[in-house]
Amino acid sequence: MKEKVVYWLTGSQTLYGEDVLSHVAAHSEEMADYVDRFMPVTVKYLTTCKSSDEVVEAIRKVNADDNCIGIITWCHTFSPAKMWIKGLKMLQKPMCHFATQYNERLPYATIDMDFMNENQAAHGDREFGYIVARLRMDNKVVVGYYKDPDALKELASWCKVAAGYAFSKTVKVCRFSDNMRDVAVTEGDKVEAHIKLGWQVDYYPIGDLVDYIGTVSEKEVDALMEEYEQKYTMATKRVDVVREQARYEIAIDRFCKDKGGYVGIVDHFGSLHGLNQLPGLAIQDLQSKGYGFGAEGDWKIAALGAVMQYMADQKGTGLMEDYTYDLKEGLCLGAHMLEVSPQFAAMKPEIQVHPLGIGDKSDPARLVFEGIMSPEAVAVSMVDMGDRMRLIVQKIELVQYPQKMPNLPTGGLMWKYKPNFKEGVAAWIYAGGAHHTVVSSVVTAQEVVDLGNMWGMEVVLIDENTKIDEFKRQLIWSDQIWKAKL
Ligand code: MN
Repeated sequence: MKEKVVYWLTGSQTLYGEDVLSHVAAHSEEMADYVDRFMPVTVKYLTTCKSSDEVVEAIRKVNADDNCIGIITWCHTFSPAKMWIKGLKMLQKPMCHFATQYNERLPYATIDMDFMNENQAAHGDREFGYIVARLRMDNKVVVGYYKDPDALKELASWCKVAAGYAFSKTVKVCRFSDNMRDVAVTEGDKVEAHIKLGWQVDYYPIGDLVDYIGTVSEKEVDALMEEYEQKYTMATKRVDVVREQARYEIAIDRFCKDKGGYVGIVDHFGSLHGLNQLPGLAIQDLQSKGYGFGAEGDWKIAALGAVMQYMADQKGTGLMEDYTYDLKEGLCLGAHMLEVSPQFAAMKPEIQVHPLGIGDKSDPARLVFEGIMSPEAVAVSMVDMGDRMRLIVQKIELVQYPQKMPNLPTGGLMWKYKPNFKEGVAAWIYAGGAHHTVVSSVVTAQEVVDLGNMWGMEVVLIDENTKIDEFKRQLIWSDQIWKAKL
């Protein structure tokens, strides 16, 4: 991510003379260099804009630079905002307005009008903010001294989201199956997703993958088996069953690379003609390497998973499914029949082989483990409301299993909902949230909300402040607003 660039653009004007402008440029460079040290991307001072033509020229550079994922703007002095109109209307990348200052405190003993004219971010930021509001740009505003750890954290978070947004435009999903028969919530408008989110979702017959599986050599399987043995505990004697999964993993990975760089994978337990097992261990290990995965034809979750994995640097993120409740404790046990990412493992996962009750295939090898704990995690769902996509974001707390579950043949997570069990579950259901989610203990709820805003989509947040009556009214208003927007 550090290879991606966010340009720092400072606003000013010629009114103050060369002296002040040279200070503005020097300060901006110093500030951008400092900020850069704390960002997941590279932050680079681009220029100080003093006229409409200069803004246009700068934005042209920003748009044309493939490596650039967004801009940070700041007004050291006053910058008359009409000069920003043309440029901002051309801007094709996310923008963060950093309401900051070169000086943290005022030099009370010496302050005079020269100081005031050179250091008037409070003044300039408002003029700039007006034109951004007038242009209805959905940008981010981060406030604070540029060395303040909280402000830097917020800015770093925004940079991560902007990088995720840029990555989203490159996401390609390879689906080896259509959606599961009769299932509603995993459906969606793929053309709309391509237009709004940049996701290219392509179908391939499972037979094409079967051909690839046939080309995998025993030597290649040996090498991946060695990798498995390092990362996982082999808790089965049925080595051939595990080798079969290794073969699947190599074939799927090669297929995705050969066909143009797919980063999301979709399959379906009912659509496995020519495969002996449902890919379990194979998909789990592929998720651990950054692939997004959606089960039962769920391409939305595969793509969302790939984007969030990128933002999370491939840690603590993957497919999850709300499975079964402990109503007494107010907990949910999340899992999937096989394909839970080992990024969620609180222990060294075990490779086990068990029968699978559905799908009529041979016993599949899978990773079994207890899930991690995390006081702050997020569950994210994307549903098609018929005229638009809705992003549903819920804060959850990952907790320890209250008791051992020795017969549970899968990886899993146990969590508490925000704001509490009753309202958390009700809000999710009222919003139409799916059973498939992407859960992350690394990407924050705020980051997903910001990402949804960058995508320009309806975002619904369920957190510690959610009140169910208010939430239901919000859904009604939101529905009307989004209908009007379309
Ligand atoms: Mn499922």
